[in-house]
Amino acid sequence: MSIIGIDLGTTNSLACVYRNSRAELIPNELGEYKTSSAVSVLEDGSVLVGAAAKERLISHPESTAAGFKVWMGTDRITTLGALSFKPEELSALVLRQLLQDAQRYLGEPVEEAVISVPAYFNDDQRCATKLAAQLAGLTVKRLINEPSAAALCHRHAISGGDCRMMIVDFGGGTLDVSIVDCFENIIEITAIAGDNHLGGDDIDQVIVEHFCRENGLSLTALSPGARASLFRQAETAKIALSGAPAAMISLQQGGQQSGLLLTRPLLTQLCEPIFQRVRQVISQAVRDRDRVGRIDDVVLVGGSAQLTVLGDFLEELFGRRPAVAAGPDEIVALGVGLCAGIKERAEDLRDLVMTDVCPFSLGVATYNDLHDKTPHMAFLIQRSSMLPASRQETFYTLQSNQQALRFEIYQGEGYFASENLKLGELEVQVPPGTAGEQSAAVTFTYDIDGILHVSARSSGGDYRDRLILNSRLHLTEEERAQALERISQIRLAAQGTQRERYLLEKALSLYQQSTGRLREAIAHLIRHFQANLEQGDRISRERVYRHVQKQLEQFQHYFQSDPFAEDFWADPEELEDTDEDTEDEE
Ligand code: ADP
Ligand code: MG
Repeated sequence: MSIIGIDLGTTNSLACVYRNSRAELIPNELGEYKTSSAVSVLEDGSVLVGAAAKERLISHPESTAAGFKVWMGTDRITTLGALSFKPEELSALVLRQLLQDAQRYLGEPVEEAVISVPAYFNDDQRCATKLAAQLAGLTVKRLINEPSAAALCHRHAISGGDCRMMIVDFGGGTLDVSIVDCFENIIEITAIAGDNHLGGDDIDQVIVEHFCRENGLSLTALSPGARASLFRQAETAKIALSGAPAAMISLQQGGQQSGLLLTRPLLTQLCEPIFQRVRQVISQAVRDRDRVGRIDDVVLVGGSAQLTVLGDFLEELFGRRPAVAAGPDEIVALGVGLCAGIKERAEDLRDLVMTDVCPFSLGVATYNDLHDKTPHMAFLIQRSSMLPASRQETFYTLQSNQQALRFEIYQGEGYFASENLKLGELEVQVPPGTAGEQSAAVTFTYDIDGILHVSARSSGGDYRDRLILNSRLHLTEEERAQALERISQIRLAAQGTQRERYLLEKALSLYQQSTGRLREAIAHLIRHFQANLEQGDRISRERVYRHVQKQLEQFQHYFQSDPFAEDFWADPEELEDTDEDTEDEE
């Protein structure tokens, strides 16, 4: 039975398997490697995952969610139609879809996975990811940092001599930067820095905000559908700008037209604050390396790496234009696939060794003396220590006859405990004694997945394992079983219809975004398509599918052109002519 590798992304997720001596991406039902990390609840209570769900962000914003990876590790509840979800439950549905596609593709059951997470994911976020996998019926063999997976893939592909590279992974919602030393078969991650709330989505956001400012609109006052449409157009325009000098964004509502011409200089200007944050993260990674040295190679991965204006910015920063990895949005998944191969002990990967480091410092809150009111940090593990890392330290009582020693566990870099993320607390009983007589030894272990384990043993012999406050992520067996039951009862939308469903959703969202004659033509197309879905045989369904697909592409093209050029709209007769004889021209 295979172990699959999963890149569970903010925007897109991919699955990969190692077989026949190579990492092989697994296509979904649409034949694509990327599955949109979007979830939509249908009227019948079943759940749609992927491209069709992403389309429903526009047509059914109230029952659709995307980008939920940024909420992992939080208590945020998302209500979609009649159902409510925690972030890890939404992720579990995406994982279930990937798992289902993988099983179909491989023709065998799959139970184990290696999953990538942003290097800068904290303990809560990592635990939430593991929980999501369990809810999807998967056992996690390893969590691997996304840039480390990219480094693994990149190095495996190019091999070659000793080198030091910087991997910049800029995706939809997260930025990770890592510095990697490669020699022979060893890939050593030596520094990691990142921002869990910075990505291509932020660029879309600044574009949309600018659009609203320029057109005197209030973003919050727009309907959810109009908002989703604007974000979609902002993303399309942003991507188009890597090839074209300018792109148009427009909104029609209540007979009023608003528009914005997005040019490269404008995009550069809008992105400036975002790029400054990218710069900070890169600087931190460079500073964190104790052995300062030259970087041979800067490799850009992630969808946003393809942004020309980002390349411009980095060229100015580095004095040389960084290389965009081949297949920048697939490299992490391929690396995770390699890692799955290593886990499976594939013969040809036997010599490959990769070491990783922890992205955050970890410690407990301590007081200097009895009068100290603000606890500060005693770090047990410093960031950038090699994984797995383990350290023990002893702490003493501050008062006479103190009955217990209580440890608050934090992750972060701040001097004061309150500046950092509290992971939990742990208490051990101590025997009576004068101040400083009794003690407890605390042990921190950062495992290979980047997850922390804490234990404490007091001088009186009391022993405790990790007692975590954030108990939501550390469910009891019973709670886990209940959550599993709830999620596994949700039905994923029927197989075999994903492709048609996607096209229909695309038509529906284009319908919502358009007006007038174009809208009528789309309505006509939708009716035609639906009728055929219900009655047509396989061959006619396929013909109609292709026809609708072609027409929609044209409509989309019209829709994205300059909306102010009225005469651009094709003749309505031509648009409405969806008779089947027109499709034979292909
Ligand atoms: P994640 O790993 O977070 O799921 P990806 O690596 O798939 O994300 O990247 C998704 C992001 O990349 C989105 O914000 C998308 O708009 C952006 N993106 C995709 N293709 C391009 C492109 N050609 N140019 C610029 N940005 C792109
Ligand atoms: Mg990614």
